[in-house]
Amino acid sequence: MDNRRQRRQHWPQCHRVLRLAARSLGAYDRASTVAVSALAPSKVSTVLILVAMEAEGTPLLSELEGLQQDESGLPGLPALCYSGTYRDLDVIVVMNGVHPIHGVTSVGTAAAAVTAHAALQRYQPDLVLNAGTAGGFRAQGGAIGDVYVATAVANHDRRIPIPGFQAYERGRTEAFVPPGLLEAQPTWKLGVVTTSNSLDYTLEDEERMRGNDASVKEMEAAAIADVARGCEVPFVAIKVITDIVDGDRPTQDEFTENLGTAAASLRVAVPAALEFLAAGR
Ligand code: SAH
Repeated sequence: MDNRRQRRQHWPQCHRVLRLAARSLGAYDRASTVAVSALAPSKVSTVLILVAMEAEGTPLLSELEGLQQDESGLPGLPALCYSGTYRDLDVIVVMNGVHPIHGVTSVGTAAAAVTAHAALQRYQPDLVLNAGTAGGFRAQGGAIGDVYVATAVANHDRRIPIPGFQAYERGRTEAFVPPGLLEAQPTWKLGVVTTSNSLDYTLEDEERMRGNDASVKEMEAAAIADVARGCEVPFVAIKVITDIVDGDRPTQDEFTENLGTAAASLRVAVPAALEFLAAGR
């Protein structure tokens, strides 16, 4: 049987299976379209800070002086882990690390999700704080250097055109905004973070980012928030803008140019957020 004929005979079967899967998932999917409010911590003693890149996390570590490298790391992962205390909080910083084969930082949703899950299991935090750099949107009033606190996160590159999968493909998850944080930091902004596995974007992505009402674009938050929700741990994201998504300069140029300044800004913003959390204990 030639390949084309095999495929023709195979497809109706696939469709039937997918239809059945969609139907059985229907109940779950409908439930997930119902607005789910953000998980909020009852107490905050242990904070797990997840950062994708060492370039983002290293300046922060020099500010969180009490933290020491946890040499045993996370089994099977290139992650770098640091733990210690800061302002009476137990703080752990985990960075994804360098991919063992490709030799570059493991950015994106897969590395973010596995690292988040392993770190959550190991450190059992009361709160997950995802900190990093991101693109901002001029149309939403964003500018380079802005600090954003996520109100919610969602995907913009997951496309599954099968009935029942709409809410799953977007995967919108509400984030926890510590009450009073924006009053304490009046220059910070609130916004929805939109996630994909690409630094650039397609026209379809653009439409979906708009559909998400995004102010911030990056490559990890939606994956981490989903894992945190699965483990029933409240999720906060703080993102500093390195580049303007709807601007006129290539993202990679702006990103590279502003990465150092943004990392320096995270070095100030993350300890400020920790201090705020510690004060509210
Ligand atoms: N060349 C870089 C790789 C950067 S990938 C390196 O030095 O290794 C981009 C990283 O920054 C991701 O972790 C992502 O979350 C974040 N980021 C910053 N601006 C972004 C944008 N406009 N779109 C997507 N991700 C962005």
